[in-house]
Amino acid sequence: MEVNKEKIEAILKKYGVDSYKWINPGGVVVSQWVRMKCMFGCSSYNSNATCPPNVPPVDDCRKFMQEYDSGLILHFNKFLDNPEERKEYCLGINKILLKIERDVFLAGYHKSFSTFIDECRLCSDCTGKRETCKNTKDSRPGPESLAVDVFKTVSKYGFPINVLKGYNEEMNRYSLLLVE
Ligand code: SF4
Repeated sequence: MEVNKEKIEAILKKYGVDSYKWINPGGVVVSQWVRMKCMFGCSSYNSNATCPPNVPPVDDCRKFMQEYDSGLILHFNKFLDNPEERKEYCLGINKILLKIERDVFLAGYHKSFSTFIDECRLCSDCTGKRETCKNTKDSRPGPESLAVDVFKTVSKYGFPINVLKGYNEEMNRYSLLLVE
């Protein structure tokens, strides 16, 4: 099914998203090293229900991306030097991403799927397990949880991304919106 890009872009505009690029989701780089970094070095491992090990194996994540003909990288950048404000900002964006996913679905794209720009924080106390998640309808994984090499993927499309050395640097966050 040919995607009506104007229709999707009108949805993005409605929610104030103005930095994005159309991509072929098959070109999203999915790598084993990303999963390894989740398992060894991230405090969210096994404590957030949208993070490993609550997600499919790396090969399945890759296959999932390849099942879509169209998608977008959505870019959000913000300077916030307070970690708690960062979490609030990301939560607000993630709620908007759910609305976008829903609108795209209602526009006729039944496979519409949006990743969050952060781990899910819809609840103040995440259960840490998919089986006990308190909002399975709305929780979504971030791209890294799906083993997406965000650095390599967004760089391919000319978006900015850097290792942040402190909270005094601007964040660049990314969501994948898969459309078909
Ligand atoms: S909806 Fe709640 S319990 Fe489920 S992943 Fe998000 S924060 Fe965790």
